[in-house]
Order: sequence, then structure tokens, then C-alpha cells
Amino acid sequence: MRNVTRSPNSHRTPGSSGTSVSALQGEDLRNHRFDYLIVGAGFAGSVLAERLAAGSNKTILVVDRRPHIGGNAFDYYDDAGVLIHRYGPHIFHTNSQRIVDYLSRFTDWRPYEHRVLAQVDGQLLPIPINRDTLNNLYGLNMATEQEAADFLASRAEPVDDIQTSEDVVINQIGRELYEKFFRGYTRKQWGLDPSQLDKMVTARVPTRTNTDDRYFGDTFQQMPREGYTKMFERMLDHPNIKVLTDTDYREIRNEVNFGELVFTGPIDEYFDYRFGKLPYRSLQFKHESLEQEHFQPVAVVNYPAEDVPYTRISEYKHLTGQVHSRTSITYEYPSAEGDPYYPIPRPENAELYKRYQKLADETPGVTFLGRLGTYKYYNMDQVVGQALALYKRIEGAAHTQGERAGAEEARQVARQAQ
Ligand SMILES: Cc1cc2nc3c(=O)[nH]c(=O)nc-3n(C[C@H](O)[C@H](O)[C@H](O)COP(=O)(O)OP(=O)(O)OC[C@H]3O[C@@H](n4cnc5c(N)ncnc54)[C@H](O)[C@@H]3O)c2cc1C
Repeated sequence: MRNVTRSPNSHRTPGSSGTSVSALQGEDLRNHRFDYLIVGAGFAGSVLAERLAAGSNKTILVVDRRPHIGGNAFDYYDDAGVLIHRYGPHIFHTNSQRIVDYLSRFTDWRPYEHRVLAQVDGQLLPIPINRDTLNNLYGLNMATEQEAADFLASRAEPVDDIQTSEDVVINQIGRELYEKFFRGYTRKQWGLDPSQLDKMVTARVPTRTNTDDRYFGDTFQQMPREGYTKMFERMLDHPNIKVLTDTDYREIRNEVNFGELVFTGPIDEYFDYRFGKLPYRSLQFKHESLEQEHFQPVAVVNYPAEDVPYTRISEYKHLTGQVHSRTSITYEYPSAEGDPYYPIPRPENAELYKRYQKLADETPGVTFLGRLGTYKYYNMDQVVGQALALYKRIEGAAHTQGERAGAEEARQVARQAQ
């Protein structure tokens, strides 16, 4: 029998008094009944736990097998005292004021507009491609959007039936720019040629004729002022919420007395891979601390060349605004093995997910939520939105038809929000 211990965050912010997440110090799990068991302390699990506790006075046990809360958004101060993101740079951006208002209960914000450069032909060039990218790459002096549009049109190679990622990009900007900026990066990132990937993968990458070099176009682009982990600590700091880290759901599922289960881990794992594994792309992160104040001009530099083994390098001080005599960076190496990060967008994988989804529909008492529970690449704001939508349905339905019916309905919404 495992006791609930106070271990939501294995890394302490220097100078902070530690976490304030409530816990059942040394008490036996069997003495408690929880209305909900939530698996995963990332955005999906934490937002839902907060709402159920603060909004509906439910009791919740949140378990996470990692040694910390925050899921992939977890940040911490490394040995050099620099705030870094353990699972790669997480930039918060959204067009939803509702989601900003909700998260603002737990954090202040620091304005930050994300800019990315790509190392191409020995130069650092803005990505998404804009007029400056083209001018610098080709030694041109285009001054208007029309000139840049005409230039791109002259390069574009129209594809009649756009099916793959390669088709999308070649149709838009032609083969040369495709090869310089997209092909190598995509091959490294996915372990697949763009011609094998669904068109939606690169359809997300805009090409611009102006000189806007912001990576995202969202109305709200800011970072939690004290970091994500602090925000999660405040979110989970409620007497009705108990947090158990370093604990796999399977270790405690038979020991905990709970009503409903919300699972934000991998849906295929929950069902013991009954229909086979849902394919994911993983990443290996190499964190480095450097004896210098700055490393690169922006937070993220992409390396599309195939002879460079990593895809990008991130330097966190640009994101956090931290002033420090040292700096810390992270190299990202895509890999087939490791934690599940990116669902691989291919039709056969979507079909496989549908089989799990159907099984989930037929399984009472459990709701799947979040990027792993619903096998979708979601940004953080989308996962917050998904969790808030689920809560709204649970709450609404509880008022009318009773808890179980509400949870059933909530399951539908979680799927519709995908
Ligand atoms: C490299 C990278 C960069 C990203 N950058 C951005 C960005 O810049 N902006 C943005 O908006 N989004 C970004 N994202 C997406 C963002 O990480 C997700 O939207 C967010 O993490 C989803 O939250 P979640 O709660 O669904 O999942 P997660 O954060 O993955 O949380 C799920 C949790 O469940 C736990 N878990 C799983 N199975 C079990 C089990 N059996 N028992 C116990 N615990 C379990 C896991 O340990 C994990 O902590 C990025 C993702 C990656 C991979």
C-alpha cells in the first residue's frame, strides 16, 4: 500500500517555500473515498481537478507517474539556476479570452511573442518564410507584398490533387524552398518523408509576403510570469485535491475507492494495447547549461538540414525574461523510442484510434481527455478548452440527470472537442 505523499514537484524553485499543493501526509489511501480519480497532472487533469473541486465541491485524487505535476509543460530551475522546460519549449498562445481569464486566476503573465529562425545555407532566416526570408536568401530587395507574392507564385509548382505534406508546400512555394526549409526538418521530425504524411502536417505552416516574423498569429501570446509549474501548484492547491506523483495508475487502481475515472494518459495503454499500439513520435531532450549570458538571438532556432541530427535548439531566457549570467539550452532529437509526444498523422492511425474510441464509448465509468487520451496533437490552450468543456457538461448534467449520465455526456463532448 502506497501512502499519499507530498511530492508534486521534485525540483524546487530557489528561494521559494516549496509547493502548497495539499496532500494526505502519511495517510492510507483506503481510508478515503474520492469522487474522481484523475490520471495525469498535466493541463487536462489539473484543470478538470481544479474545476471539480472548486466549482462542484468534489473530492479528487490526481495521480501522475512522473515525479512532478504540470505534464509536458513542467518547468524548473536547473542546477545553474536558469528556469527551463524539461520537455522542450512551451509557448502559450490562444485566441480564447475565456481560457486566458480562467488561467489568469492562477498566474500573472509576461508578454512574449515567439520568433523562430531557421539555419539555412549558413544564414539564420525567419520562419515562417516571409519577405525578409526571401530577400536574404536570394539577395533580393523586394519592398512590397505584391512583389513577394509574385516571387512565390513564380516559384510555386501547382499540384492538382493535394494529398500529402509535400504536395501542400510544393504547390505553395515550389520545390527549392520546400527542400531548404521543410523536407529535412519533416523527415527528421517524423521519421517519414513529407510525401508520406497527411497534408494537415504542413498546412499549419503559413508563408507570408509581409515582414511579420512572429511565429503565431494569436491575439494572446504571453508566458506565465513565474512559470508553468507555479501556475499548476496554485491550480491544484485546494483542500479537496490530493496529488500523488511518481505513481502509475496501475499501481493504485485497485486500492483507491473512487467514483468516476478520468484518464489523460494514452488511451491504447489503458486498454492494454488490445488493438495494437497507437504510433507516436518521440523526442530526446539534451539540456545544457552554458557559462555565457546568451547563446542565440531568439528562443528557438530550427535546423532543417538532414546532416544535423537535432531539429532545433531552444534558449529559455528569451521566453522567461530571466536575467542571469549563465544560460541554458535544449537540443531536440526526434526518435522512434521514448515517451509518446506526437501522434503520427496518418489515416491508418486515425482508424486505429477510432477503434479505441469505440471501445471507450462502450466502457462505463471512464472518460478520456487530453492529447494522449484522445490521440490528437493539441496545444495547451486547446487542452484547457477541452477540460473546461468536459467540466461544463459534468456540472450541467449533474444538475439535471445525475452524475453518471453527466459523465456519459461529458465523454461525448471530449470527443466532439477533438
Ligand atoms: C516538444 C513539445 C513542445 C510543445 N510546445 C507547445 C507550445 O509551445 N505551445 C502549446 O500550446 N503546446 C505545446 N505542446 C503541447 C502541450 O505539451 C500539450 O498541449 C499539453 O501538454 C497537453 O496536456 P495534457 O494534460 O493533455 O497531457 P500531458 O501534459 O502529457 O499530461 C499527461 C500526464 O499524464 C501522465 N500519465 C500518463 N499515463 C499515466 C499513467 N498510466 N499513470 C499515471 N500518470 C500517467 C503523464 O506522466 C503526463 O504527465 C508541446 C508538446 C511537445 C511534445
